[in-house]
Amino acid sequence: MDTKTLMDTKTLMEWSAKYHTPNYGRTPICLVRGDGVRVWDTDGREYLDFGSGIAVTSLGHSHARVTGAIQEAAATLLHVSNIYHTVPQIHLAKLLCEHSFADRVFFSNSGAEANEAAIKIARKYGKERLATDRYEIIATHNSFHGRTLATVSATGQPKYHHGFEPMVPGFKHVPYNDLRAMERAMDSHTAAILVEPIQGEGGVHVPDDDYLPGLRKLCDASGALLMVDEIQTGMGRTGRLWAHEHTGVVPDVMTLAKALANGVPIGATLVREEVGSVLTPGTHGSTFGGTPFVTSVALATLTTMLDERIPERAARMGRLLMERLAAMAKARPVITTVRGRGLLIGIELTTPAAPVVDACREGGLLVLSAGDKVLRLAPPLIVDEKDCERALGVIDGALAAAGA
Ligand SMILES: *Cc1c(COP(=O)(O)O)cnc(C)c1O
Repeated sequence: MDTKTLMDTKTLMEWSAKYHTPNYGRTPICLVRGDGVRVWDTDGREYLDFGSGIAVTSLGHSHARVTGAIQEAAATLLHVSNIYHTVPQIHLAKLLCEHSFADRVFFSNSGAEANEAAIKIARKYGKERLATDRYEIIATHNSFHGRTLATVSATGQPKYHHGFEPMVPGFKHVPYNDLRAMERAMDSHTAAILVEPIQGEGGVHVPDDDYLPGLRKLCDASGALLMVDEIQTGMGRTGRLWAHEHTGVVPDVMTLAKALANGVPIGATLVREEVGSVLTPGTHGSTFGGTPFVTSVALATLTTMLDERIPERAARMGRLLMERLAAMAKARPVITTVRGRGLLIGIELTTPAAPVVDACREGGLLVLSAGDKVLRLAPPLIVDEKDCERALGVIDGALAAAGA
């Protein structure tokens, strides 16, 4: 098989349709290379990447410090098992604790696994520290917490449950941004509340300023844990290192994944001391969680974000995009609302988002949708003004082309 065959887009699309399980609704392009905010496909077409692999490559593609860390770690020590200590894992746990509310960290390989650990911690904490029948976790409608059986059960979107029932018991769902509903749902079985500080997949929903503080108060009154899923909102995405920092609220548990190692798979569950202490030796684990390889890459990613004040940059570029999009909304009635924080932005339309996503791609811009009618922008946090202007031009043209 020569390289030419390998790069033939049509053949690759046929093989993809033939050999993959058909669970992804994939876009018909095949990407081969990335640099900064740009990616290229098998036909040599260039795209501005305003999706970042769903809020993952926050430092952009092929970032020198990340690539350097990958090369060095690959040539040093890939994997040894968590029955041994490794230097980068210790340094990463320490750095995460020094830059968050947390005292301890558990490493895994994905967002779902980070939430799975949080769920297990909540159940064990509830039973051991609160009361034997406190196991229930309350999450919100429209949330997204992952695809494993427990995390999909936590996810408040029935479309992700269909066909996989029965769901794991012990989860309840209430409307997002509704403190009264949460208060009514909490009872003598509640072990924890699990929420996204901003709902990402659910449509980029930003709650009222008093929502997280209100949840904190409810948890303080009941003893239940406040667990924030920052898998999409964390690592500077919203203009602060962690999105909950906008509210001043201190959670008990925080989960991370997507941008933590800029594209190398990792998950992390961060906890306060007394919460983490329930994970006594032998109670939880992961073969690959926090290998010296991935933790080296995450260390390079987090250090770069802190050194280069990437969250502040995300806040600045986010303001620019939001202002320009608000002006676009005035001129184009197809846009009903523009919302978000930092560089996690949702543009709600009166029409389906899919044709607009396609038209943007035709115009050389990759964007995401979130739900049926919301365009989601999550560019790398290193994006500059010029690329933002270019993207805005493509979006405006795509809305026009989609008959909007
Ligand atoms: C993506 C995401 C997850 C799931 O992460 P995976 O790595 O796909 O398992 C969980 N929660 C939120 C908020 C996410 O955005």
